[in-house]
Parts: sequence; structure tokens; C-alpha cells
Amino acid sequence: MSGRTRIRACPERTCVGCRERSDKRGLLRVVLIGGSCIPDLRGTLPGRGAYLHPTRSCLEQAVRRRAFNRAFRGPGPFDIAELRGHVAQTEQETP
Ligand SMILES: [Zn+2]
Repeated sequence: MSGRTRIRACPERTCVGCRERSDKRGLLRVVLIGGSCIPDLRGTLPGRGAYLHPTRSCLEQAVRRRAFNRAFRGPGPFDIAELRGHVAQTEQETP
């Protein structure tokens, strides 16, 4: 085996809430814009991203352990109102 590494077909990311690795498609990308955590629904927003399961429990865990401060390398506090609203909506849509 040489140092050749291939990009895998199913990229995995770690959820900043529960710290479990998941298929990227099952995670919500979150970016920091002007001090607010914004859900990157299309995966096209620029900047550093954090990945989160779109569930309230993972969001609350991320908030409690200040995972966003780590992910975005800032002291915070960050506004998660929009993110929280999106997560609540997503959970309602998926029973
Ligand atoms: Zn999670």
C-alpha cells in the first residue's frame, strides 16, 4: 500500500452533538454567519462548517458542551434561534 488515498463514495462526518460518525447525508451542516448558527440546507454556504444530526437532543448536547464554540473557534455566545427552529421543524416532519 502506498500513500494513495481515495476519496470515499460516502463521506462521513462527526455530529458535534452526540459525537457519533454518520453518513454526511444524514447530518445537517451548520455554518456561522455574523454570530448566528445557520443551517446550510443546500450545503453551499461558505466558511467553516459543523455537522449535526437534525434532532433536538443532538442540538441540546452541542449547546451544553459548547461544541459550536469549538467548531467555529469563537467564544460565542452564538445565536442558534434559526438552527433550533429548523431542527424543530425537521423533527416534526419526520415521525
Ligand atoms: Zn448526533
